[in-house]
Amino acid sequence: MSESDVRKTVTQALRGLAAEGIDGWPRRTAVLPVVEASPTETTPPGDASALDFVRDDLGECTRCGLHEGRNAIVFGEGNPNAPIVFIGEGPGAEEDRTGRPFVGRAGELLTKMINALGYERSDIYICNIVKCRPPGNRNPLPDEVASCLPFLERQLEAIAPHVVVTLGKPAVSTLLGRDIAITRTRGTWHEWNNIPLMPTFHPAYLLRNYTRETRQAVWDDLRAAKERADELAAIAHA
Ligand code: SF4
Repeated sequence: MSESDVRKTVTQALRGLAAEGIDGWPRRTAVLPVVEASPTETTPPGDASALDFVRDDLGECTRCGLHEGRNAIVFGEGNPNAPIVFIGEGPGAEEDRTGRPFVGRAGELLTKMINALGYERSDIYICNIVKCRPPGNRNPLPDEVASCLPFLERQLEAIAPHVVVTLGKPAVSTLLGRDIAITRTRGTWHEWNNIPLMPTFHPAYLLRNYTRETRQAVWDDLRAAKERADELAAIAHA
């Protein structure tokens, strides 16, 4: 199957799913067709080795107070040439324990959503604004964000994704540099350094407000992000 056939098949499947209505991510995962070509094959390469340099530069970081309570730095994981990068605000307890982003309940939901789009987790990249767990899962403080943000910026420059998806208010507010009302802003396109940025709800918020409306909203946002990433990949390879 050609790349355009794959994109067409996925797009048709997503439209069909939207027409069915939303009643849970797992059902979408089950009915999505097999995608024979990895999204990475339609994505121009970023500088994968640059990610390793960023991680090396971060080292056993003590640049802000969050290092005092952490078990592990959660740098981020996934495809160094990812078409989409998902960004949350900071690691939670399970992430701090394992050193991996989005592996708790919210992470499981995010993984289902990623799968429903036709991706595996290894196809995309997942990280956070800060790489050490804020105590009690509070939002990161401005000085903590300021200390950690340069490393996120370098990660994004290294990956050069087609689209960034921010998860929750702190992530979009940080990248856009102003206070953002997530309920009004989600689902609308913005830009970070010329990369299209789609804000949506954090999966933890979705778990707390698991209504048809919130699921539909996030699904719409992610589908728009996927379609934009596919369009840009097609243009890059034209
Ligand atoms: S949150 Fe970032 S800047 Fe602060 S200690 Fe952890 S890695 Fe360093």
